[in-house]
Amino acid sequence: MQEPQTIERKSLKVIFLLITFLIQNAYAVTTLSIAEVAQGIYVHFGKHEMPNKTNHGAIANIGFIIGNNCVAVIDTGGNPEQGFALKKAITKITDKPVCYVINTHVHPDHIYGNIAFKSDKVKFIGHNKLARAMSTRGQYYIDKAVDQLDIKLAAKHIIPPDMPVKKKLIIDLGGRKLTINAHPTAHTDNDVTVFDGRTQTLWMSDLLFLEHLPVIDGSLLGWLKELNRMEKKTYKTVIPGHGPVVTDWPKSLQPEKKYLQTLLSEIREMIKQGKFLEEAVKKVGYSERKKWKLFDQFHKKNVTTAFAELEWED
Ligand SMILES: [Zn+2]
Repeated sequence: MQEPQTIERKSLKVIFLLITFLIQNAYAVTTLSIAEVAQGIYVHFGKHEMPNKTNHGAIANIGFIIGNNCVAVIDTGGNPEQGFALKKAITKITDKPVCYVINTHVHPDHIYGNIAFKSDKVKFIGHNKLARAMSTRGQYYIDKAVDQLDIKLAAKHIIPPDMPVKKKLIIDLGGRKLTINAHPTAHTDNDVTVFDGRTQTLWMSDLLFLEHLPVIDGSLLGWLKELNRMEKKTYKTVIPGHGPVVTDWPKSLQPEKKYLQTLLSEIREMIKQGKFLEEAVKKVGYSERKKWKLFDQFHKKNVTTAFAELEWED
């Protein structure tokens, strides 16, 4: 009688271990990979994919900076679940509270995790044009989320900034000051970047794309102007919105600049020759095609946006 019982216990133990293993592995899927790119600055690097029903829009670089008293989150992810995963990742690294959430701009892959950090103790920071962009696009974003990303969103997920930045805002995380700069229209009309003086790191977000084709949703001329200005500055580390961390500034900026300049010169030439948008979309910028991921997905839209802007140049 004793022997079958022992076997039963053993098989129960095996089942228990198996279940534990499965739970741990399931958890691993929702755990974010995080890298410390400079002292106290942590980044989760997104993959170069279109936002879809498999990745649920989680494709951008997101992360956080830790001071002596506080944590500042920079972008919250492409869906609420990613926001909660980021929050969990923070608690594993530090017991300091999150005091600020900085949204670098309105695009869904950067703001859909906001709800995870909503609390009376957390201040949301963004460009002074971010709230307007959120309210203009919010309903459209909510409607599209189910079909495109297979996630359910509601108005409560689109959280506008408590602290809008018109030009510049300095926040103190405790022995660590971050400067948030609001940029003129470039990638969008509501881009902010975050500079950490302690490590000379610039969190540039989508003002800088590496590998992933730059996406124009603001102004081609404005973006190039900002890049020309920022190129002259010295940064030890730069964190793009999409692509790997940069430690050779401004060298790693050159591919993006080249792409945008190619669009500018070739579209200007077509307009000068009296050509129309349809032809520009077919001909402009294809020398750049092999250099970029997701070129086919974004390039035509970029040409269309830039053409509309340049058509009315003096
Ligand atoms: Zn963007």
